Amino acid sequence: MIPEAEALARILSAVEPLPVESVTLEKAAGRFAADDLRSPTPLPRFDQSSMDGYAIRAVDTPGTLQVVGEQPAGAARALRIGPREAVRIFTGAPLPTGADAVVMQEDVVVEGSSVSIEESIPVAEFIRRRGGDVCEGQQLVARGDLLTAPRIGVLCAAGIPDIPVHRFPVAGIISTGDELRPIGTPLQPGELHDSNAPMLAAQLSAAADIAGTKRTSDDPAELAEAILGFPTTDAIVISAGVSVGDHDPVHETLLKLGAKVDFWRVAIKPGKPFLCARLGLQWIFALPGNPVSAFVTAKFFVAPALRRLAGAPIDQCAPRSFPIPLGTSLENPDVRPHYVRAIIQDGRAFPTPLQQSHALAGLAAADVLVRIESCSFLNEGDMVPAFPLNFR
Ligand code: AMP
Ligand code: MG
Repeated sequence: MIPEAEALARILSAVEPLPVESVTLEKAAGRFAADDLRSPTPLPRFDQSSMDGYAIRAVDTPGTLQVVGEQPAGAARALRIGPREAVRIFTGAPLPTGADAVVMQEDVVVEGSSVSIEESIPVAEFIRRRGGDVCEGQQLVARGDLLTAPRIGVLCAAGIPDIPVHRFPVAGIISTGDELRPIGTPLQPGELHDSNAPMLAAQLSAAADIAGTKRTSDDPAELAEAILGFPTTDAIVISAGVSVGDHDPVHETLLKLGAKVDFWRVAIKPGKPFLCARLGLQWIFALPGNPVSAFVTAKFFVAPALRRLAGAPIDQCAPRSFPIPLGTSLENPDVRPHYVRAIIQDGRAFPTPLQQSHALAGLAAADVLVRIESCSFLNEGDMVPAFPLNFR
């Protein structure tokens, strides 16, 4: 059994980001930039009005000005104003030459083709300066940055159509167990629906393209066939059968296929039997069958590995947490850290009633997993890290 931090460090130091490809902005969401991206242009690209109103010379206010033209947003009309002149202007429209301020339309009185302004307007009022947001050459996105909606927005504004990113990982999912039946089929006594495969597919879908889900019995030959049925995926995620019982086919199967097991068993609760192996270029992650254990190990080991494959920097692959005070006292006498399912009420974390690893309803009800370090006895109000789960 190895410590949780060592398991993650071993995975992240061995996983290499996938090769770089170029994608269009429309396809870039959720990918990681493979290079720094700088703006080829200042933003805004030109001095412009931030209001509907009149472009003026501040020095002419207060006063009555002659309106000599109109500049809507769009093509610049090459307008120019001289002393005591104004141009009707709209939000986002280029500023006419000679103007150094905009007065809001609410603050003028229109009389025929002239406008009267009562107040003194300061220079630069309601003007967005060229380059005020972004200078030419300014870095917009750094290598390793996740391409989020705001970053896609600013890259688009800067006119960058294609982005170098790492290839997105592809993962296959396999459930093993003689007792499993697919959802939608009737159950015989002792059987249950395979909840792990659909849950893991949903859980990991933000981190990888899911090539498919398969279900096998506890027969090692069947499991081997299922693994070989995903010949080109970057990762294969197997649930159950990874302990050492007579009906646990994972070890025997991996041995027969010639996979190299990196480690098996991690000091984490739930999730101890987690196994990490390589089969050629493919990563094999074998998760315990109990649904909460499968979820926890997928969250803390598999998703980080997939994010690393996708190009996330090593220090940004692990799930994020925030500190929260406990709503009750909580003890973890185990040598393993315990991820406790908890509900947040009034800013404090309260454990869900059943903390066993089969108890899916508690996981479904929980807002967060809180991490209780090994051999710790915490009081109400003590701070613990909380990892978001089902936020409303
Ligand atoms: P195992 O890891 O094979 O010993 O399985 C541990 C527990 O998880 C057993 O109670 C299994 O029935 C249950 N289990 C295994 N696979 C799944 C699955 N795909 N969906 C729901 N429960 C499962
Ligand atoms: Mg089993």
